[in-house]
Amino acid sequence: MNKETGAILVLSGPSGAGKSSLISKIIDHIGPHYFSISTTTRPMREGEVDGVHYHFVTEEAFKQDIEEEHFLEYATVHGNYYGTSIKPVKEALKDGKLVIFDIDVQGHDAVQNRLGDITTSVFVTTPSLRELKQRLDGRGTDAEEIIEKRIHMAKREVQRISEYDFLIINDDLDEAASYLISIANAARLKVPSLEISQFIQEWEANA
Ligand code: 5GP
Repeated sequence: MNKETGAILVLSGPSGAGKSSLISKIIDHIGPHYFSISTTTRPMREGEVDGVHYHFVTEEAFKQDIEEEHFLEYATVHGNYYGTSIKPVKEALKDGKLVIFDIDVQGHDAVQNRLGDITTSVFVTTPSLRELKQRLDGRGTDAEEIIEKRIHMAKREVQRISEYDFLIINDDLDEAASYLISIANAARLKVPSLEISQFIQEWEANA
């Protein structure tokens, strides 16, 4: 059924919780998928590539995209704009792919409102705040002030864990990845409300 219409998997969680590492670990084990590349106005970090990690744009270009309604959702995170473009998502869904989003709690809220019936969501976090601080310090990519902002955001984000279908505590990367593979594969089987009546009709007709 929904193998033809695709499905959505939303991953949220504090920066530093290991979402990107988890995604790279599971990507070869979850069948046809499309990882949504967000657009952002934040400066590029060392090691990041435009068009791979994000589409890096100016604030002016981002605002133009908002005006032209190119975004499925967008939000301001840590003082920068982040948004998900609609077009590639629609195409991937049409191809029956699992569309993966790494977006914040505001983005998750918007996706649930628009496409909730095909969406499965996972909140990924560290075992503790202390561990998160250690990982952010160890990453060495952000200035002290930015790390403070991320920690402040993280404390707010964890308050909203109950809005998610699943919680993964990323203590051991291999174990967390195996949980996420199970969730991703189950996400494909979520029943989309639009198709269920058609399925029942066909199921009954096939007596
Ligand atoms: P980072 O700057 O560490 O790459 O991402 C900061 C936060 O922005 C993360 O929580 C990430 O999930 C979120 N984010 C990335 N892309 C999007 C997006 O397109 N929409 C929303 N709402 N959040 C995003």
